[in-house]
Parts: sequence; structure tokens; C-alpha cells
Amino acid sequence: MTTTIGKIFELTVKKFPNKDALYDVRKNVRYTYKEWNDQVNRLANALLKEGVKKGDRVSTFMFNTEELGTAFFACAKIGAIFNPINFRLTPEEVAYILADATPKVVLFEKSLEPVVSAIANRFDKISFWFIDEEKPEYAASYQEKLGSASTEEVQIDVNENDVYAFIYTSGTTGRPKGVMHTHRNMVDQSLLCVAAQKIEAEDVGLVTAPMFHCAELHCAFLPRVQIGAKNVILHQFNPKAILSLIENEKISRFFAAPTMWNMLLQEDLNQYDLSSLKQGLYGAAPMAPSLVHALHDSLGISLIQAYGMTEMGPAITFLSEYDQLRKAGSAGQAALNHDIRIVRTTEGGPSDPDDLMPAGETGEIIVKGPCMMVGYFNREEATENALYKGWYHSGDIGYLDEDGFLFVNDRVDDMIISGGENIYPREVEDALHAHPGVLDVAIVGQPDDRWGETVSAFVVKKDPNVTEQELDEFCKNSDSLANYKRPRKYIFCDALPRNASGKIQKFVLRKQLEELFTPKKS
Ligand code: ATP
Repeated sequence: MTTTIGKIFELTVKKFPNKDALYDVRKNVRYTYKEWNDQVNRLANALLKEGVKKGDRVSTFMFNTEELGTAFFACAKIGAIFNPINFRLTPEEVAYILADATPKVVLFEKSLEPVVSAIANRFDKISFWFIDEEKPEYAASYQEKLGSASTEEVQIDVNENDVYAFIYTSGTTGRPKGVMHTHRNMVDQSLLCVAAQKIEAEDVGLVTAPMFHCAELHCAFLPRVQIGAKNVILHQFNPKAILSLIENEKISRFFAAPTMWNMLLQEDLNQYDLSSLKQGLYGAAPMAPSLVHALHDSLGISLIQAYGMTEMGPAITFLSEYDQLRKAGSAGQAALNHDIRIVRTTEGGPSDPDDLMPAGETGEIIVKGPCMMVGYFNREEATENALYKGWYHSGDIGYLDEDGFLFVNDRVDDMIISGGENIYPREVEDALHAHPGVLDVAIVGQPDDRWGETVSAFVVKKDPNVTEQELDEFCKNSDSLANYKRPRKYIFCDALPRNASGKIQKFVLRKQLEELFTPKKS
């Protein structure tokens, strides 16, 4: 049997036809697995009727919806390549992806219509399908397309080594690249996520992080479908809605980025019955140890961390529930069937996979495993560099401790070099996060004639009275922070710029610093 995403969906439907599969909160729609499969087949048949063939791309541009999940499996069944687009992108950024991925069909939702309408006339070969009521004149109605489509299973020969998706990177460090994954990559990723989180058919998972991002899609949503659990789909992140849903739908697990967990902790948790909640998964960005402790104390649930990147499916390590406090700050151990190395970084080219660093010493994190991307679409040179000698080069700096636990310091590009010393912003961020008056913090380097770079802190206050002097004293007295790592400037702000997956956009902050502190020419 060839193991494809369409096949694993088919097997779950066969095993649990009448079990609750999905609840879409936005449209108040509920499906059993049999009902959902009918809907998936309708879309698969409608896409075939539109002329979509195996290998053609189908994009989605929407927040979290049943339709995105349905498109995911419909594409898998007909061998079309699924391409979920980030709903936060501007019209030009979406146009960039459409021109790169050249989809045949784009499914989009009402709230994003202004973005699509700004660029649709540039793409006369794309058929735009509108998933809500009252479609604009340039788009077809999704409901009408599906209304006349059959619920028969499609008969298309899809192989496990066929590309199943183009998932674009978040573009934290440049133009987004289309990461190509095969069916087999994702079935393996899904399986290791089931194992790491111990997901069961009785689980009820909440989808609240963006589904276009592979952390939610591959580590939470897909594994729950594979095992036959239920997914509750929340349109957009909203702390109060999440807490009510946990109570009303008896949610047992969900994934959220650290910043989302932090926002949940600011709510009055005592107002809700959260007793159904068994486990929380976090990742996609670093979580300060002080926040891990706060979560553990406030929710009393088992916590699991995943670390990874789009190119690897994404998860390559997990920090298990047993190691959360003992190894707080670590990203955990290699995921099943994954091999991780720390190697010496090389200037101007990929690091040599055999130039290993000893335990405790930092270098580039490289990894090998079954979920490694096939490559970037249309980017041979970038693919060769990223997959140099068969290892994925992450561009992250970190170290393995004596027990084989991975600690992620930072991205190579975010490291600060001050007076010849390397400073990892994350160490300083973790130290400041422990101050009770700090809600959020980001550290960036600022060019300096004397020191090369100096450390600057962008801080969102929790306590409005907190001052720069107080934070500086706190850093001076911190056991974990050498003097040269202390921020020399503090900039207080209302919020940090983050992308949809919760990562701080440091390039935005560096630009702000430049604007704030470069003397104006008169
Ligand atoms: P681009 O390649 O366009 O810059 P991106 O790297 O932001 O996009 P993602 O694949 O979403 O795209 O992010 C992967 C990165 O996120 C990792 O390389 C790492 O820096 C960070 N990351 C993910 N999980 C964790 C974690 N648990 N702890 C620390 N950092 C994490």
C-alpha cells in the first residue's frame, strides 16, 4: 500500500464513519468523518471538473476554516499540490506567491476579499473561488461548484513520493520560499507527532494557531485526523473564545505559539472550567523558561514543546512533559528517526556536516530525518545550500548538552557581536522575561562605531510604572547575564511586531532603531 495523505484520511473515515470529526466555529458546522469525507469528495470532484490535474497547484487564502481542512484532503486525493497562503500577507506579497506557485484555483474568504480584489486581474489563468455568500463578480461560488459535484471517491493514482504541498516559509529572513514536501514526508511527520503527544481518538483538539502554517497543520490538525480525534476550528486566535471553547467543547489539547500562551495567561482563568484540558503544545518560537513555569503553575496540564522549521515538516525535536521544568529553556531531544548535529559555522557557505562541536559548545544546528523537504520550488541554489551533503542546515545556532538535549540560542542572523563577544538575544530576552513588570521583550543589535554592535531592548510593559533604571538594575543583579550582555538602550512600546506564526520580526525592530537613533541630516 502506498501511504499518502488521501489514504490515511480514507482509513480514518473507514474506521470511524460516525464519529465527530470537525466543528467549524465560524459557520457553526459540524461533521462526522463520513459527512466530512462527502464534502472532501465534492471538492475533489469539483476541482477535477475545473480541469485541475495531478501536480497542479491549488491555493487557499483564508483564516482557519473547515474549507481549508477540506481542501487539504481534497487536493491530497487528486494529487494536486496544496498551497496554503498566509492570511497576513499584503496584496503584493500574495501576488508574489501566486506568480511563483502558479495555482489553477485559489479558494478565499470574505474578510480577505479586498486583498484578492487588488491583484486578481493580474492572474487571468487562475480561477478564484469564493467560500462565503455574495461572491464578487470576478470569482466563482464555492458553494455552487460543490453543490453540483458528486460525493463519489475519486480514482487517481497518487504515490507517496509525489509532492503534496508547497508551504511557503514565513519570510522572517527574506522572500518566502516554496518548501516542497511529499505525502510520505507528512505521513511520517504526522505519525511522530501522534507518538510524541500521545494523541488518542478520544481527544478533542482546538485549532487556533494559523492552519496555513505547518506547526498547526502538520503537528496538531493532521495527526488528530490520522488517529480519528475531533478538531474544533476557531477562525482566529482569541483568548476568551479559546477558554470558552475549552469549557463548552471539552477541548483536551491544542497548539499555540509562546506569545499566544502568554496572552491566555493574562485572562482570568478561574472563570472557566478547564478540567478537560490535558495537554498544551508550544513551539514555532522560543519560550522563556519563566513563561514555561508560569504556564505549568497556572494550568497544571502536561506541556510539550516542539522545535523545527517548515523545511523539516516542521518538528525535529520535542521536549517531553517529564523534562519541562528540569530542562526548561531546552527544545528537547531529537524527534523519532531524526539525527541532529551541532557543527562549526562557516563564513560565506554551508557548514561542513562532519565538523562537529563538542557537547556544550555552540554551532549551527543541522538535521537529517524522514520529513526533510524535497527542496524549494524553482530555487536550485538555495536548495543545494540548505540540503548540503544531505543535512538540512537550519541557520539556527545552538548546542547539545551532555544529555543530548538541544538548546536553541538564536538565528545566525540575529546574533549580536559586541566588542568581539557573541551575544545571543534569547539569553537577554529570557532574563528580562523573568521581571514581573515585563510582558514581552525583544533584543536586537544596533551598529556602533566603538563596539561593533550594542544591545537594545524593546519592552512591552506589564506594569506601567516599570522604568529603564529598574530593568537595568535587574539585569545587573541577574546571575545569568554577564555585564557586556546588558541592554544599553530600552525602547518601550505597546506591542512587538510579530508574524502570523508568532515570531518577532526583528528586521522591523532594527529598522525602527535606525530611524530612532540615526541623526537627521538637515
Ligand atoms: P524564513 O526561512 O523565510 O526566514 P522562517 O524560518 O521564519 O521563514 P519557519 O519555518 O516558520 O520559517 O520558522 C523556523 C524557525 O523558527 C526556526 O529555524 C527557529 O529559528 C524558530 N523556532 C521554531 N520553533 C522554535 C522553538 N521551539 N524554539 C526556538 N525557536 C524556534
